[in-house]
Amino acid sequence: MSIEVTKISKEYGQQKALNEVSFSVGEGSITGFLGPNGAGKSTMMKILTCFIPQSSGTAKVCGFDVYENSFEVKQQVGYLPEHNPLYLDMYVKEYLAFAAGIHKLKNIDERVKEMIAITGLTLEQRKKIGALSKGYRQRVGLAQALIHNPKVLILDEPTTGLDPNQLVEIRALIKELGKEKTVLFSTHILQEVTAVCDNIIIINKGEIVANSDAKTLQTGNKNQTVLLLELDKDIEIANFLAITGVLDVRKSEKLKWKITYHHQNDIRPAIMQLAVNHQRTILSMKIEEQSLEDIFQKLTA
Ligand code: ADP
Repeated sequence: MSIEVTKISKEYGQQKALNEVSFSVGEGSITGFLGPNGAGKSTMMKILTCFIPQSSGTAKVCGFDVYENSFEVKQQVGYLPEHNPLYLDMYVKEYLAFAAGIHKLKNIDERVKEMIAITGLTLEQRKKIGALSKGYRQRVGLAQALIHNPKVLILDEPTTGLDPNQLVEIRALIKELGKEKTVLFSTHILQEVTAVCDNIIIINKGEIVANSDAKTLQTGNKNQTVLLLELDKDIEIANFLAITGVLDVRKSEKLKWKITYHHQNDIRPAIMQLAVNHQRTILSMKIEEQSLEDIFQKLTA
């Protein structure tokens, strides 16, 4: 596991921001850390990047404890904080060279060139950071986070404040980076997680309320799929139950059925055949999915 969090709690004075949070993130995956404002996302990320200590519990990044081995953790992690603290008077290249210097890299010029290419900053590299649009500033932030070639990238709300075109570009960049690195990124934009993430962790009021892949979250059960079927005429439920893989059939309305089946047996061809054999017309057939908005609202209301 790249990230292993065990029973982390954090109090700011009287305020409990995290309450015994546990989760892990596998190597080479992109995980969306989702939650309403004030849920504890930034606090968790600051702990994972050794910016603040936890009150209790343990967290490890690439096997190194964030409290005991913070030097090693910082070598393994690239961090883009929520309020990307860029030096606006510095030139892009100058700032990236400065970031490379902090990591005591030897091949500074080469790394800066590489990062500029990877993050699409070639045309902007000679500009002052203050003259860049928000989307390009985020790219500079990402380049800074990547400069020491970390295995893990922790990105706090990397797409907040971007316009729709910039959003698409930065998401594509994160997806590309996720091919080689473990990425944990926080967001409160739901579409983002389905567009980018392999896994989703939802946090609310300092506690984890969901942790799974998007499909499981939307269908409720990884092994079962629910098919919503509408026919033009009635038919005996026993006909559906006779199809291999069908686990349960319920009539939701007069000519509508909810058929639960084992996800490995796609029953749709058999349903087609059944309709033909019984001279029924399929008016609609679709796999039931809860929208992420519904799930999110249910879990964080
Ligand atoms: P999120 O990133 O999900 O919006 P945060 O981790 O920023 O949530 O905040 C979680 C809770 O902790 C919030 O109630 C916030 O007000 C509180 N909090 C965050 N930072 C501090 C701080 N430095 N001092 C006091 N309270 C804080």
